Amino acid sequence: MSAQVVSRDGFAALLERLIADGYRVVGPTVADAAVIYDDITGLQDLPMGWTDEQEAGRYRLRRNDSPALFAFTVGPNGAKHRLFPARQPVWRAVRDGSGFTVDEPTEDDKRMAFVGVRSCDLAAMHIQDRVFDGRAFSGEHSGDRGYVARRENALIITVTCGTASGTCFCASMETGPRPFGGYDLNLTEILDGGRHDFVIEVGSERGAALLASIQSREANAKDLAAIADIAAKTTAAMGRRVEIRGLKEILADNPDLLHWKVIAGRCLGCGNCTMVCPTCFCSTIEDTTDLDGDHAERWRLWDSCFNPDHSYIHGGAIRRETHARYRQWLTHKFSTWHDQFGVSGCVGCGRCITWCPVGIDITEEIRAIRAIVQENADD
Ligand code: SF4
Ligand code: SF4
Repeated sequence: MSAQVVSRDGFAALLERLIADGYRVVGPTVADAAVIYDDITGLQDLPMGWTDEQEAGRYRLRRNDSPALFAFTVGPNGAKHRLFPARQPVWRAVRDGSGFTVDEPTEDDKRMAFVGVRSCDLAAMHIQDRVFDGRAFSGEHSGDRGYVARRENALIITVTCGTASGTCFCASMETGPRPFGGYDLNLTEILDGGRHDFVIEVGSERGAALLASIQSREANAKDLAAIADIAAKTTAAMGRRVEIRGLKEILADNPDLLHWKVIAGRCLGCGNCTMVCPTCFCSTIEDTTDLDGDHAERWRLWDSCFNPDHSYIHGGAIRRETHARYRQWLTHKFSTWHDQFGVSGCVGCGRCITWCPVGIDITEEIRAIRAIVQENADD
């Protein structure tokens, strides 16, 4: 597909166009001392002049002097909380004579445009599509109607990462730092001397129509080379990597390693890692009634495999100990997810490392497990 170049003002016009077209625009903004994806109303809401520092158990925003609008990486949330809300009503029932009237809440049908989606989060979105559209289980669109509707209405504008945090490892998971397809438009921010432009690659007809509504010029070979150059520099700056060769089998074949208990010695079982993960999809159901019994509601809430109750089956939890829950989480991500959905459950965003309060690093644990399994094989 084609690529065009727009100025910073042109990009501002593109955001205005989205709002004028009736989109709810969701993008990065600074809130609660982090880059948070939330509703934005224009260029002024983007985190200009901010960058982030991330390490295991550590996240800090830092001021910089750059006019860049995307000089940071992923914050604690992304698009997931809008496509798969953490708390959703399933039905409401009101007493009506001797029976009940049951209503399914109507969906907010306003179209959403996600701006500045990172390549890892785009990959995560495609993974959640497989989970929620039902085809992985039944071969047809039998899944979550709300998710499918929100996703079909979503316009996706990604951004090539121009910087990598200390906890990113998307390059080794082959999901970034440059998005290749699956978007409507992809931005690459170019800052060079006094130049501040965006090279915009077109990924869909909808994206092409949107881009055609603002002033742009056709990208030349130098502009296109700049995209590859920025992605290569970001890859080189990436703080971590995971060796995925043979990992599915290593994890599936080694549920009894002592190392699972070593990790559990530090793990708090808090579930932060699952709450920030863009691919985690576990949920639970909660029913409530008012005191006089005239009104009842059913809600779907995010759940976590670190919650002991999540594995409760008639009479008790299957995974009672922390080491069993951590093992379940990591093995699902890198091994059994392949059996279920044909892809890895990890996209290398690094959030679980940054937001783990005790700094447990999934890349280090995988390296340690590999080394132990290799050592055992050599004995
Ligand atoms: S497991 Fe960790 S690094 Fe992988 S996608 Fe989830 S939060 Fe990101
Ligand atoms: S690995 Fe870290 S974030 Fe995840 S449950 Fe354990 S302590 Fe919490």
